[in-house]
This record gives sequence, C-alpha cells and structure tokens, in this order.
Amino acid sequence: MIPPFVLHIDIDAFFAAVEVMLRPGLKGKPVIVGGMPEERGVVCTASYEARKYGVHSGMALRTAAQKCPSGVFLRGRYHIYSQISKRFFDCLNRLAPGVEGVSVDEAYIDLRGMQYFYASVYEMAEKIKIVVEKEIGLRVSAGVGFSKLGAKLATEMAKPGGLFFIEDEKTFLSNLSLAKIPGIGPHTLLILQGLGIGRVKELKKTYPSLWKKLIGPHLYSSTRFPRKTHGEAKSFSRETTFPEDISDREMIMSHLSYLVDRLSLYLIEHHLFTGRIEIKVRFGDFSTFTRRAALGFSTHGYHNMWKVSLFLLNELLKKKKLPLRLVGAKVEQISKQRDILPFVCLKSERLSHGVRDIRERFGFSSIFIGRELVLERVYPVEREGIVLKTASLTK
Ligand SMILES: [Mg+2]
Repeated sequence: MIPPFVLHIDIDAFFAAVEVMLRPGLKGKPVIVGGMPEERGVVCTASYEARKYGVHSGMALRTAAQKCPSGVFLRGRYHIYSQISKRFFDCLNRLAPGVEGVSVDEAYIDLRGMQYFYASVYEMAEKIKIVVEKEIGLRVSAGVGFSKLGAKLATEMAKPGGLFFIEDEKTFLSNLSLAKIPGIGPHTLLILQGLGIGRVKELKKTYPSLWKKLIGPHLYSSTRFPRKTHGEAKSFSRETTFPEDISDREMIMSHLSYLVDRLSLYLIEHHLFTGRIEIKVRFGDFSTFTRRAALGFSTHGYHNMWKVSLFLLNELLKKKKLPLRLVGAKVEQISKQRDILPFVCLKSERLSHGVRDIRERFGFSSIFIGRELVLERVYPVEREGIVLKTASLTK
C-alpha cells in the first residue's frame, strides 16, 4: 500500500508571529496585524490569543477592536514578511524537489520518491517541519494526505503547531462537510443545503456528476506537482549475465551494486544526473521482469541510486523462485543540470565524488564498495574494474 505523499505546510498566524518574534514583549498578547482600530480596512492576521476573542482575518478592523479592546493593533511590515517568506521557500526547496507555493506562508510538497531516504513519510514530514521551524524561527503546522485537499485539511486539524496525517482519506473526505471544500461558494452551498445535501458522500450519492465536477479536481488521481525537468531524454544501462545461474541473494546484490557503482561513476564523469532508475532481472527460465522508480530528484551519488535499486531488486525477486540468470540497471531522465538536492542525499554525492577522485588517480579497482568485494572471488580484477562475463553495455 502506498503511504500518503502530499505534505501541506503552513506558518501559524504568520504576520502576527513575525511581529511577536521581533518584539518579544508582545508574547502572549492578542496581536492584530492589518491597521489601526479606527481605520477602514480588515485584519490580515490575528494571533491565536486574539482569535480567542473571535477575531479572524478578513474581519473589519473596527469590529475586531470591539471584540478585542485589549488587542495590540499593528499596520504590518510587509517587506519583513516577504523576506521571511523567501527564507521559508528557500528552505523547502532545499529539503524537497517538488514544492508548490500556495501563498506567502503556505506550500504543498510532493514526498514521492523521497521515502527511500527516510524510515517513513511520517519521519520525513516531521523532519521537514522541524527543519523549517528552526530555519525561520516560527511555528508551522503540517498535514499529510493523499491529495492536496486531504493534506490541507489535515493541516487545519493540526493547527496550531501540530502535524496530522490522514490515513484513510476516502472515508475522511466522504464524511466531510461541503463547506470545507475550496471552490464551493456560499451560493452553491446554500442551494445544496436546501436540497438536504451537506456532506461530500451525500452529494456523491445524489448527484454523482456534480460530485465529479466539484470534488474531482481535488482527488488523488489529479494531484500534480510542477517538476523541474531538463536535458534530452536519454538513458544509460549496465547489465550482466552470470557465468552460472545464481541462487544466492547476496551474490545477486553484489553484482547489481557493481553495475550501479559503474553507472554512478559514468554519470559523475560526464557531469550528468539521473532522475529515475530501472532494474531488470531474468530468471533461470528466461522470464524477464523490470521495475522502475523515480528518485524524486536528480542525483549521481551511488548511495542515493543504490537505495532505490535495492528496493526495486527486492520487489522483483518476489516474482519468482531463484535462480537468476541476469541482472541489470538503467538510469533514465538524464539531465545536465543539478536539481536542488534534499540535504540527506548530499552526503552520498560527496562520498561518490571522493571515490571518483581516488579512482581517477589509482584506477577503478583501488577502492570498492564493501558489498562488491565478493565478486573478486569469482572474476578477474584489473586496474579498471572487475571483468564480468558479459561486458556492461551502454545504450
Ligand atoms: Mg498561515
């Protein structure tokens, strides 16, 4: 089962929180940003203390002053907010490859492809939240779901300052009040309520086509993220047929590791990056299977590539009983430019660059990945690498 993969993140009471951060004396006070109490205009942001009095954004300043006479009214310093907003987005873009801004203090993040580098999406979401809070010095709320709508609603549940996951989004959404769905205006809502329809599931049952029109765009299948793609569509692959069919998993892993190692080195030497990996296996009975996965970002670090490769290999080995005849790896979505790399993956790249430097001076075989060492017992080793039975092919 795939885990939820859309993270929504939102700074709590943004403008008010910035003012409190810059003037600690305001801490714990009802802060209302937007203008002076006697001015025309509306509240931009109310701190949580002010919200207790019933003040909310969009409310006329005069009404806010009536509701909360003790409120600290501020005009707002928008140049400062925009600087912090920039830091917020810089931080998110550094942490994740697919970030879509919604407003100055709010974004959706695509977690797909990143799950290979964390124990779970939960850990990943938590980590992103913590790093962002540390970076901008403000509290954020976050939600994880299977769609942007689900994630955004999860954030609503998480406020203030929490992290909320929607495990069963289908049930959650179908029980949801239509008033919560963005894009359904007060007028439509009134008509539907007049017809006795208040919840998403009632709409689906009574007017399926209207449900499709109103809810459809928010659903999982329509969740798209902007992707940075560059370069021409090319791929490189390395594969090898074993001298004898292999039943030993460790041995199969060693072969695949070596192929991925060679691909990583090739990409580094040519200043290229890959965004997707495909693994191929051929069993003893010649049945052949492939499986691919997006890396979620462009990289050429061995460990980044290996983690996904190993995951795919394990999935493929579930297909049939060993022995295996052939294993192969292919890198796709080749690009010349470096994506912004999630910070957890940077170490892998640095390590691979170090290994490349050593191999440049002393030959490929001067340094091996540990899991490749068993290959020395089976194949001749030359300065420029292990001599596999079928030389690696490049497409
Ligand atoms: Mg906010």
